Amino acid sequence: MTEKKLGKRTTLVHGGTRRSQYGEVSEAVFLTQGFVYDSAEAAEQRFIKAGDDEFIYARYGNPTVRMFEDRMAAITGYEDAFACASGMAAVNGALMALSKAGDHVVASRALFGSCLFVLESVLARFGVEITLVDGTDNAAWETAIRPDTALVFLEAISNPTLEVIDLRHVVEVAHRVGAKVIVDDAMATPIYSYAAGCGADLCVISTTKHVDGQGRMLGGVVCGDRETIRGPVETYLKHTGAALNPFSAWVHLKSLDTLDLRVRAQAAGALKIAETLEGHPKLTGVRYPGLASHRQHAIAMRQAESGGTVLAFEVAGGRDACFRVLNALEIFTISNNFADSKSIVTHPATTTHQRLPQEQKEILGITPGLVRLSVGLEDTDDLLADLMSALEKA
Ligand SMILES: *Cc1c(COP(=O)(O)O)cnc(C)c1O
Repeated sequence: MTEKKLGKRTTLVHGGTRRSQYGEVSEAVFLTQGFVYDSAEAAEQRFIKAGDDEFIYARYGNPTVRMFEDRMAAITGYEDAFACASGMAAVNGALMALSKAGDHVVASRALFGSCLFVLESVLARFGVEITLVDGTDNAAWETAIRPDTALVFLEAISNPTLEVIDLRHVVEVAHRVGAKVIVDDAMATPIYSYAAGCGADLCVISTTKHVDGQGRMLGGVVCGDRETIRGPVETYLKHTGAALNPFSAWVHLKSLDTLDLRVRAQAAGALKIAETLEGHPKLTGVRYPGLASHRQHAIAMRQAESGGTVLAFEVAGGRDACFRVLNALEIFTISNNFADSKSIVTHPATTTHQRLPQEQKEILGITPGLVRLSVGLEDTDDLLADLMSALEKA
């Protein structure tokens, strides 16, 4: 099938499909570590160069995993992808594969905690210099990116504070000095992802989030041009054991069928909830890129067509008032994940971001009253009623 000419929904259902000789309708799961060869000569030949439909060992590649990689590449707009056991395996792989001692890396400060760990505690240990900037400050990127900058790493939409970075600007500044830009696209979702459109060299996605979207699987992908993916990225990842297992790849493939429908329904719910909560007397603020009041609303709407599936609000009265609200919710569950079909509330200051030093929390706006809402697939009216009644307890 010529995927390039097809729409996203068609690609999500059919992209990358490989059928076995049995002609199965549903994608097959190949639970095999190894592959057999017709002859010793064929084995030798495959080790010299494996063809498109030829595999050697599941840590290097597997037919089910390859279907998932091809489909992810097709929907994100990149040439190729390498699938990993988790989003962090993908982030670590992309960063480790493309940096070396003495390199300079610039990253946005509002990063997922484990990404900060890889940068500041792993790469730094091997002599990579890290500079962190306020991602929303265009001038800060221009100051931080130097002629010797090799990589730029950022989250296009930050978690949990939902700041939006002007990606086209960052890419332009980075490319001026020949630095590669890696976007961590967990929040943007593959449906609204604009990393490829803005010229980002690589995009890493935790498929644990919207792609699985139903709270079951861990997974991640690194997407990019074929030369980089099948070159340094694959070489690093296949030798260091980050491979996604074939069963997880199969569950991910089945989830992609409905990704567009799920994400659009969740984003519509998030917008309605954000609009309804804005101005609520028990709240001091609502953050959602789809709201006109969001600081980077114009950039957010220029880059993506939606504000996404996650919003945040601040409860007046700090932690105690906030906890009363969380404990009063009946449909929203308290958890730390997001992008699930079940709606989730998170108190970042005491859970996901608990370990951040207080001054970092303040810089990032992770206050005691901040709540992150991940909107699921329930009826929006039920979710709103749940929130309204819980807010009475604040
Ligand atoms: C969840 C997440 C990750 C890590 O993904 P895992 O699948 O949990 O390893 C990385 N970056 C961001 C922005 C995330 O939200």
